[in-house]
Amino acid sequence: MNNGIKMPAVAFGTYLGFDQNGVVTPKNHELRDVVSKAIDIGWRHFDTAAIYGTEQELGEGVRMKIDDGNVKREDIFITTKLWNTKHKRDQVAQALRESLKNLGLNYVDLYLIHWPIGLNEDNSHSAVDYMETWRGMEDVQKLGLAKSIGVSNFNKGQLERVLKEGSVKPAALQIEVHPQITQSELVDFAQSNDIVVMGYSPFGSLVNRYDMPLPPPRIDDPVLVEIAEKYGKTTPQVVLRWAVDRNIVPIPKTMKVHRLEENINIFDFKLQKDEIDKINAFDKGLRYTLPSFWQSHPFYPFEKIDKPIDDPFLKKE
Ligand code: NDP
Repeated sequence: MNNGIKMPAVAFGTYLGFDQNGVVTPKNHELRDVVSKAIDIGWRHFDTAAIYGTEQELGEGVRMKIDDGNVKREDIFITTKLWNTKHKRDQVAQALRESLKNLGLNYVDLYLIHWPIGLNEDNSHSAVDYMETWRGMEDVQKLGLAKSIGVSNFNKGQLERVLKEGSVKPAALQIEVHPQITQSELVDFAQSNDIVVMGYSPFGSLVNRYDMPLPPPRIDDPVLVEIAEKYGKTTPQVVLRWAVDRNIVPIPKTMKVHRLEENINIFDFKLQKDEIDKINAFDKGLRYTLPSFWQSHPFYPFEKIDKPIDDPFLKKE
């Protein structure tokens, strides 16, 4: 990264999704055990967020391996994120201390502003400027609570503003990247400013996403199958490698041990330029994370749509 610290090239995602009861939280130490298994397999980078409800089990899994003497804290890279209701400058250190308490650790490797959007405790829109939040991020880095700081879901104009007005350059930008949304302009902009891009939801429509109609490429797409057969890999591995070959850190999530092996076994081959171009050609600018319920917020980062969905965070009577 631009501060000289190294980030492992692939990250394990710990967001367990959303159902009718809200964010799905881990049960019966399942995530703790998957994390500890992931460390055995070779995973070193873990992505979480205050809102995911997974910091605690992630921390347990990591600490179990540290206590066993299998790894040292400095071998592991933990990314977590500040939630939207904690955007005031003096709330940032408090929020990160809470995350560290959940994780059972005394620092994180990377702390990200999850969204440029500030909210009040009741989830109504707050006018707090993300540049105020960024000052709070600079504070937590100075305090040693986060080794590096960055942003997530910021658009180009918002990232430009942080670069211009901030005292510390963001080390990383985390955005949605998969074959249906290659984000080439934003990726080029970030990378030309020495900002590492992390790509979330890296499988796009290869995997099922709720009950949404899914455009190509699916997991058996002929273009991907042809590339996969050439290298003796699976199509999910090809898509992860496509991210790595674009210098993007993909963040695949799985709770299945055989897939933990599969998703990290991508470092013994490399795609050729024409293969990368073939996968880029699926780009439709299609987002699976589109919180249109925030689109009247002054700092909403994405293109607006005609019929925004209801806010699942707003409590209904
Ligand atoms: P992914 O693209 O990682 O898809 C996850 C799905 O893929 C799961 O259903 C998983 O099923 C399945 N899967 C995993 N590996 C394979 C494989 N090899 N073959 C077939 N299916 C597979 O998307 P997510 O949306 O879950 O995002 C990943 C991570 O990105 C999150 O966990 C989070 O850390 C981060 N993220 C960040 C956001 C942000 O706002 N900054 C927003 C969204 C995500 P199973 O578990 O059954 O294996």
